[in-house]
Amino acid sequence: MQTLTAPDPDCYGFNFDNSYLQLPAVFYKRQAPTQVTNPDIVIFNDSLGKMLGLNIEALKQQGSQFLAGNTICAGSDPIAQAYAGHQFGGFNMLGDGRAILLGEHITRGKQRFDIQLKGAGRTPYSRSGDGRASLGPMLREYIISEAMYALGIPTTRSLAVVTTGEHVYRDDAYPGAVLTRVAASHIRVGTFQFAATQNQQQLQALADYSINRHFPDIADTDNKYLELLKRVIELQASLIAKWMHVGFIHGVMNTDNMSICGETIDYGPCAFMNTYHPESVFSSIDTNGRYAFGNQPNIAHWNLVRLAESLLPLIDESQEKSIALVTESLNEYPGKFFAFWIAGMRKKLGIFNEEAEDIKLAEDLLMYMQKNHADYTNTFRSLGEDNLDGTELHQDAGYREWLARWKARLARQNETFDESIKFMQTSNPKVIPRNHLVEQALNAAVVSGDMSLLNGFLSVVANPYAEVNHSSKYTEAPEPLFDQQYKTFCGT
Ligand code: AMP
Ligand code: MG
Repeated sequence: MQTLTAPDPDCYGFNFDNSYLQLPAVFYKRQAPTQVTNPDIVIFNDSLGKMLGLNIEALKQQGSQFLAGNTICAGSDPIAQAYAGHQFGGFNMLGDGRAILLGEHITRGKQRFDIQLKGAGRTPYSRSGDGRASLGPMLREYIISEAMYALGIPTTRSLAVVTTGEHVYRDDAYPGAVLTRVAASHIRVGTFQFAATQNQQQLQALADYSINRHFPDIADTDNKYLELLKRVIELQASLIAKWMHVGFIHGVMNTDNMSICGETIDYGPCAFMNTYHPESVFSSIDTNGRYAFGNQPNIAHWNLVRLAESLLPLIDESQEKSIALVTESLNEYPGKFFAFWIAGMRKKLGIFNEEAEDIKLAEDLLMYMQKNHADYTNTFRSLGEDNLDGTELHQDAGYREWLARWKARLARQNETFDESIKFMQTSNPKVIPRNHLVEQALNAAVVSGDMSLLNGFLSVVANPYAEVNHSSKYTEAPEPLFDQQYKTFCGT
């Protein structure tokens, strides 16, 4: 394997460990990134770099070769990870076909983060793919992942995007790019599905590794593998509820795109909903709406069943007993999801205490939004403003009655109306990365090489809840026709 020394002897503050290599060899293949001709940093995430304790000035000035995979730091032992996955319901053996894990960076605070180069060249799992990524989709992942982080939603993050100086060929020729992705880990439901196709020892090794890395507190419990499943169920129930609260549509919730540590991962054809409708789908390949907005909680459940099936041999020697145990845990998922969802909806409605009627209150608001084609984000954010206008929603007598019910509900708690409004502002974003703005920013960056729009947009979505008087272009919903025609594509 080709290894070059990085220009910076301290490797920009990276402190690599490679604990994944302790797993049986079937779980990865050693693979160095492919050299590229002319790396150039187009965007770098200073605040993430600082959080990781990196030498960000050195990285920004001399780090393009490293961020493109042309130089490898001492301590880094690059690999491509093996995994499988159900894609749109069909099972496939996959693995990182275009992402290379440089290693795990250990911060001074002893936190461990995977540092992965996405688009870094072919690997043994590339199948017919070129191992490459183009600039638009990598910048898209950068924008949306950082916006999700700012919204307070667990997610992988983006440290940098570099262009490679080479073209990638899709429907046309595009600038090639490499994204540096930072994640708590890249262990997916699909990694367990892959392990389940191997032998029990290997499956157990992955489960033990995952417990050690993410859930060390369950290591000494009576049935730690069942506990592992329960933890992932809990984290996913919480994650998907958070997506639902902000109108995020992942777009491709295949089991290989579901991380066991509960981070949102793999930003491909994702989108944010404008007009509320549970059947909203933007992905060009999701023709049956499998991954529609309102299906996401059920799909997460389906994916968790696949995880449970993979773990069965570890949970009990008797398959029958294993099935009974995992079934009991899986059956708790809908209730857990709903509890997270309604807790978040109460916050979105400015409700501090709990009444059974809150469920109907939340559901009725959604019903009126759907009926009147209302914007999901702006409806919540402007609930407390007493300025009913000519929109369909505000003209609906049922909605006006709903508003009176909501105000009566707020009166049945100790907090004042103003306190409710402040509370609501912490969970109803004023700005989200609306699809039309994302596309405008990407277009300027990719077609004209102009990053100013994208940088301006990023600084706005980095502070989504603040009551700032942004230009209305950031808060206005697009014309309904935009959403009807808008399609997102997998970032290949
Ligand atoms: P995704 O749809 O991004 O989750 O990718 C699904 C699978 O296809 C993963 O195994 C990827 O690594 C692989 N893949 C996607 N794009 C490419 C590419 N250009 N070259 C090789 N493999 C790819
Ligand atoms: Mg993927």
